[in-house]
Amino acid sequence: MVEQATQLLEGVEFTHRWYRQFLQRLLGDGYDFRTFSGELGDGDVALRHDVDLRIDAAVEMAQIEADLGVTSTYCVLLTSPLYNPLEGEHRESLQKIDSLGHEVALHFSTHEYWPAESPPEEADLETRVAEERAILETVVPPTETVSFHRPPSWVLDYDFDGFQNTYGPGFFTDIDYIADSSQRWRDDPPPLEALPETMQILTHPGLWGEEDASFDKRIEMAVSHTCSHASRNARREFMNGGTN
Ligand SMILES: [Zn+2]
Repeated sequence: MVEQATQLLEGVEFTHRWYRQFLQRLLGDGYDFRTFSGELGDGDVALRHDVDLRIDAAVEMAQIEADLGVTSTYCVLLTSPLYNPLEGEHRESLQKIDSLGHEVALHFSTHEYWPAESPPEEADLETRVAEERAILETVVPPTETVSFHRPPSWVLDYDFDGFQNTYGPGFFTDIDYIADSSQRWRDDPPPLEALPETMQILTHPGLWGEEDASFDKRIEMAVSHTCSHASRNARREFMNGGTN
């Protein structure tokens, strides 16, 4: 059984099947799934998801994890070009993720406010983060955790006073950090032969699906999903006898 799972895991496919097997492997190895609210120790894994592309994909991943008794942290953008978390349908999806036992946190894009090469005063950053967290709180109570979107160098390996940074040393440089960004696991898979004692794992739910697909294809799929969602809702709201 273990051998079968190992065979399946060789060569990462960005499918829910592979992801489920990956989680089963971690569970089988005895890892404890932790949040970012405390220090991580031996045998702990902090599992985080940055929702860059699709909230519906996040719900699917959240359900897979809940079925296995795994909890994780879903980090949500307020500044995404692809979804609006305040929209009713998305609000319900985020509440569903919360009700499955996962944490919801802010995914914060500094790029919306400051150029990457000129960092703000720390107090200004904390103010902006607090403002966005307050908005997210109208949807679902977020944790103290904040994950930075496309993190600039000045947020890496640094602890902020106002929130728990997923790129703080205790979750990043002091432990192993294994991220699927741009589907890099295809060339550089998680070290399944010798998984680290303590690690943070980051996945982006929109990069995964029932069938495997390339990174570029996943982006295209997310864009067309957003376009059809906008088209359907805008037509319902403004056309076909709708009032405005
Ligand atoms: Zn991101």
